[in-house]
Amino acid sequence: MKLFKFGGASVKDAAGVKNVKSVLETVGYEDVLVVISAMGKTTNALEIVIKNYFEKSKELKSSIQDIKKYHIEILLDLYGDEKNPNFTSAYDAINNHFEDLEYFLKTNKSPNYNFVYDQIVSFGEVISTTIVSHYFNQEGLNNSWLDVRNYIKTDQTYRDANVDWEATQKNISKLGKKKTLYITQGFLGADENNFTTTLGREGSDYTAAIIAYCLGAENVTIWKDVPGVLNADPRYFENAILLNQISYREAIELAFYGASVIHPKTLQPLQKKEIPLFVKSFINPTLPGTKVSKGADLEPKTSCFIVKKNQILISLSSIDFSFIMEENISEIFALFHQYKIKVSLIQNTAISFSVCVEDKFNKFNELKAVLSKKFKVAYNENVSLYTIRHFDQVAAEMVEKNKKVLVKQISRETLQIVTE
Ligand code: ASP
Ligand code: MG
Repeated sequence: MKLFKFGGASVKDAAGVKNVKSVLETVGYEDVLVVISAMGKTTNALEIVIKNYFEKSKELKSSIQDIKKYHIEILLDLYGDEKNPNFTSAYDAINNHFEDLEYFLKTNKSPNYNFVYDQIVSFGEVISTTIVSHYFNQEGLNNSWLDVRNYIKTDQTYRDANVDWEATQKNISKLGKKKTLYITQGFLGADENNFTTTLGREGSDYTAAIIAYCLGAENVTIWKDVPGVLNADPRYFENAILLNQISYREAIELAFYGASVIHPKTLQPLQKKEIPLFVKSFINPTLPGTKVSKGADLEPKTSCFIVKKNQILISLSSIDFSFIMEENISEIFALFHQYKIKVSLIQNTAISFSVCVEDKFNKFNELKAVLSKKFKVAYNENVSLYTIRHFDQVAAEMVEKNKKVLVKQISRETLQIVTE
C-alpha cells in the first residue's frame, strides 16, 4: 500500500478537488490510502467558531454559516447545479455533519477548552473527506471512506495527542490486504472513550506517517504546491533550488529548524521502518520531486536556509551577579515547558543566559512576570532567527547583509543568526 497526503491548499476549491482526482488518475490509485486535510483555511475558521462559542459571541451562528457556505459553494462548483441528484446526496451528507456540530454546541457541558476545541475543529477534516469521497465515487473513482478515529488511538492530550501505538497498530492491521482506494482524515485521532483528539496543527503529514508505519507501507507521498523540498523558503529567499534526495536525518534537521514543508513528527516513524517519503507537486505530478530516504550523503551538501519570523530573544541575568548554573537553567527550562514556549536557540555566559523562543500561545507576558522575580529580564520582540545548514562564507554574508545581528552561533554544520 502507498500513502498519499493532500493538504488544505490542494482541496481549497472545486478545481483543487478535481485536480486531486487527476493526480490519482495520472499516478495510479490502486492500493492507495489518501489522507486529506480540511479544505483551504477551514481549520482557522473553525478556531474562530470555538472562540465565539467560549465567548458566547453573537457571531457564533454566522461563523458556522460562513464555513457551511464555503463548502456548499465547492459542492455547487463540482456538480454544476442543485438539481443534480449527486449534489443532493453529497449535500445531505455535509448537512448531517453540520447538524452534528450544532448538536454538540447545544449539548456540550465540558468547560475543558482543549477538549471542546478538538470536538469542533475535527469537522473540517470530516467534511472535506466526505466531499472528496462522494465526488470520486460519483465520478467512477471508487473508494472507501474511513473514519480515521476508528484507527488512530491516542491519549487524552487534546490538541496535541500522543499516539497509542499498540492500539493503533492493532486497528490498522484490520484494514487487511484488500487492494482499494481508501480516503481518510488527517490530523484526527480518538481517545479510549472515542472522543475526538487532534495531533497538533498541521498534523496531517504525521497521520500519513502513522498509518504508513502501522501498515509497513511501500512509501508516502506528500503532494504540495511546491515542486518538493527546496533549500530555502521562496517567500523569503530568491533562487531557491530543489533538493532531489535528502536523508531522514537532514529532513529532520530541516524540519526542526523550521522548514515548513514537512511536519517535524512525520519523519521519525518513517525512518524507523525505512519507508521512503516523497514530496511532490500536485501541479506536475509526474515530476520526481524530493525523495527522503535512508543514507547520509545523498547529494553534494547545498546550503539550506530557514527563517523563523516573530521570535523573541530573551536574556536573563542574575540580579546579584551570581552565576547562572545548572539548577537555574533547569528551572528556567521547566518554566518554558510549562508556558508552552518553544526554545529555538540557547546561548549562555557566566552571568547571563539568552534564548530565542517562539511564543505560539501568547504566554510570554505571564512567563516574564514569573521570571522577573528571580532574574533581570531583557528581551527583543519580533526578531528573526535564520538558520543555515551546510553554511559557507557566501551564504552567511548573504543572510547578514543589511541586518542587525543580535546573536550568532556556529556549530559544525549549522550557522544560526538572530536579527532585528
Ligand atoms: N487542518 C489541520 C490544520 O490546518 C491539519 C493539517 O492541515 O495538517 O492544522
Ligand atoms: Mg490545514
